[in-house]
Formats: sequence, C-alpha cells, structure tokens
Amino acid sequence: MPRILNREPDRGGQVCGYQIQVGGWHNDGQKFCGEPKAAGRYFCQEHHDWVLDECGEIRMAPGNAIGR
Ligand SMILES: [Zn+2]
Repeated sequence: MPRILNREPDRGGQVCGYQIQVGGWHNDGQKFCGEPKAAGRYFCQEHHDWVLDECGEIRMAPGNAIGR
C-alpha cells in the first residue's frame, strides 16, 4: 500500500506530495501521496510518470525540492 497523507507535505522536503483526488472536489477528499520523491524528480516515480503522461511535461514552482 502506498503511503497517503491527509495534509500537504512540505514542498521543500523529500515527500512526493502529489494531490490525489478522492470522492470529488470536497475538502474532506484531499489526500496527498506520502511516498518519497524519486532521485532527480519532483514526485515519486509513479506520479512523475503519471504527470508526464497527462501533461507532457513537469512544471513546478520555485522552492520545490528535487528528490535526492
Ligand atoms: Zn507520489
């Protein structure tokens, strides 16, 4: 089972933090990925691949750490 968080982790940290939508757009449906970032990625490997697939590129605001 992947690790799931109920609040957004520190963007400058080493946790993926990808927002997973559960049960629509209600506030209580917010979940964030708690997996460690993949080396050289802004997300874990799964979400890195997923975002690339959906968006064709990864665009992140400054201050987001990259996985070590
Ligand atoms: Zn993730």
